[in-house]
Amino acid sequence: MSDDPQTRRQIEAIANDHRPLLVLDVDEVVLEFLGPFMRWLQSEGYTFRPLTFALNGNIFDAKGEVASKTEVEALVTRFFDIQHEWQVLADGFPEALEPLADSAQIVLLTAMPHQHFEAREALLTSLSVLYPLVTTEKAKGPAVALLHGGRDAPVAFIDDMAYNLISVAKSLPDATLIHLMAHRQMRELMPPLPQGIVAASDWSSAAEAARKALGL
Ligand SMILES: [Mg+2]
Repeated sequence: MSDDPQTRRQIEAIANDHRPLLVLDVDEVVLEFLGPFMRWLQSEGYTFRPLTFALNGNIFDAKGEVASKTEVEALVTRFFDIQHEWQVLADGFPEALEPLADSAQIVLLTAMPHQHFEAREALLTSLSVLYPLVTTEKAKGPAVALLHGGRDAPVAFIDDMAYNLISVAKSLPDATLIHLMAHRQMRELMPPLPQGIVAASDWSSAAEAARKALGL
């Protein structure tokens, strides 16, 4: 049961489905986030230097001062307001998913304030990504469990953040967890993934891992 009431309402509005379930994160999975965010920062006079696997500490203002945590949060919020002008589909998506689209239920689960739902949905629609979208401000695990609804069919989840994959493992121990991250330079800075997570280097290997996990 998701502890985010708005997430719960969004999930309840999605038609019941008994097919295997595939849940996809959006930023860095369906859409490029880091590349466009870095380019936008530059247009605003900031520089992103990928020194560590984080946003905080890696963004510098025009004077070369590191942006504070509050400033970084404000920049991300501003970016999500104009995301449609910058974000693009991740390489290899959606053609990698096409073979699964009829035999699995595919849902997009994005961890962002609900206020950005409309902008994100409009962006995805403009890119012909028409899978149902769910936003959450809480952990992803309970949301994926609610989407699965105890159906007698497997579930796979693809995300670029280990903490989201771990959250789903806690709520749904049988879920297949697949790591995918569009931005290669940042992915190289990522700490090793916890055991039990499938590391996919690109969309075609992620889709293949999902296909196997879902028995399709
Ligand atoms: Mg992401």
